[in-house]
Amino acid sequence: MRDGSFIAGAQVTGAAGAGEVVNPATGEVIETVGYASAADVDAAVAAARDAFADWSSLPPVERSAALHRLAARLQERADEYAQVESAQCGKPIRLSTGFDVPGSIDNVSFFAGAARSLEGKASAEWDGAHTSIIRREPIGVVGSIAPWNYPLQMAMWKVLPAVAAGNTIVLKPAEITPLTTLMLAADAIEAGFPAGVINVVTGPGPTTGEALIGHPGVDMVSFTGSTPVGKRVMELATTSLKRVHLELGGKAPFVVFDDADLQAAIHGAVAGALINTGQDCTAATRAYVQRPVFDAFVAGVAGLLSKIRLGDPMDPDTDLGPLISRRQQERVAGFVDRARAGGATVVTGGHIPGGDLARGAYYAPTLITGAAQASEIVQHEVFGPVLVVLPFDSDDEGLALANDTPYGLAASAWTRDVYRAMRAQREIRAGCVWINDHIPIVSEMPHGGFRASGFGKDMSTYSFEEYTQVKHVSIDITAEPRKEWHRTIFLER
Ligand code: NAD
Repeated sequence: MRDGSFIAGAQVTGAAGAGEVVNPATGEVIETVGYASAADVDAAVAAARDAFADWSSLPPVERSAALHRLAARLQERADEYAQVESAQCGKPIRLSTGFDVPGSIDNVSFFAGAARSLEGKASAEWDGAHTSIIRREPIGVVGSIAPWNYPLQMAMWKVLPAVAAGNTIVLKPAEITPLTTLMLAADAIEAGFPAGVINVVTGPGPTTGEALIGHPGVDMVSFTGSTPVGKRVMELATTSLKRVHLELGGKAPFVVFDDADLQAAIHGAVAGALINTGQDCTAATRAYVQRPVFDAFVAGVAGLLSKIRLGDPMDPDTDLGPLISRRQQERVAGFVDRARAGGATVVTGGHIPGGDLARGAYYAPTLITGAAQASEIVQHEVFGPVLVVLPFDSDDEGLALANDTPYGLAASAWTRDVYRAMRAQREIRAGCVWINDHIPIVSEMPHGGFRASGFGKDMSTYSFEEYTQVKHVSIDITAEPRKEWHRTIFLER
């Protein structure tokens, strides 16, 4: 069994039993990982509290230097990170080496720079008698919970703005994918981060996770995961009035107007729906296509899907890997089976592949038409390689359908008409709207949801809004012993 926690700069086994990390492409157990008990969580929070005073009072340039060294260390080990990420998630190695790992390293470099640019508004003598200073101060100990779909990147999105701003952190990765997060915590120590600044506790959500969220020593909670668990996290945080940052589920619409570059939209829809085997909170899940180009769009998408190569994630020729687990495979199959039973048409896919692939948690890339807008497959997050395509007539209708789910994380609109594009970006209620593309995310720009997709921003300098609090300092500049406003208390001056 390997140590599942990293507390105060050292690996810790964890006193709450253990769980298996399984390669979803083969079903083989890669590691058995110790789970953190409530006492381990106590120790991690205590370590983060101890580290906070020194870490938060360092000059920003020193926090920045630690992040630069971490970026260099990750770069040296990039291949190893990609191999482990692909093994524990079943991600095609092309995705890990081309997206997850370089994206994570870029996030570290970005926050190494951003750590030095935390600022408040300029000071001024607003009433003539005082000078105001705005300070941006860290919150304290952050308790973070991450999902399994992009374990390294999600850990980065939680850890980096928190520690760059001077907070310390206890992070719980998803219990089925903790390996790269544990590597990250160890590499942070190698890069010169003081012990206790970044701590990791591994274990199931309802035990280890709830112990962390409810811990009185945690000042703020940042969570990325599903909307139902996000609600539970918020409930737990309420009793101790913790600040809450929630990055939750999505059901991204993909709106294709009849003047769009159809080949671009078809390729964009397939790539946007299949990225990470569809286990992406921003994945294209609902394509609304204007009636005149509907049939051509469906035929084009079906044609591309038929060429997608499922296979061994470690083979660079593999386009699509397995889902994260058998459980997720059953979940995806259940959604598609119920849609079919409800009268929707499965144009391609809609089955669990056999042959060599049967030993992994694979699911065939699936295209569905004819589903009702109110049906489960259109309204709820499937988190698998499934795209539903539905027609619309007027622009009003297309935009209304795009907004017709509880979620609001991301969306795209496809058109060559600048007025349609401007209308779509304004009217679609989502934290990100792409025009003529779907998926690209960069360190410099904020990522976060509206409505049931949560609130608060990851990445970019906007994320500092979550991980800092604003302090107003007011300094008397008159040196008068009796102030003008004292008239409200004293009758005479
Ligand atoms: P999940 O909500 O099941 O689990 C997420 C994390 O929460 C895991 O670490 C889990 O152990 C923990 N958890 C579960 N129950 C808990 C509880 N009661 N208390 C505390 N922690 C608990 O989500 P998942 O299946 O791991 O990930 C997929 C979900 O994450 C999808 O809904 C996806 O859209 C979402 N997601 C959102 C974003 C975003 O940026 N908005 C990014 C990635 C994933």
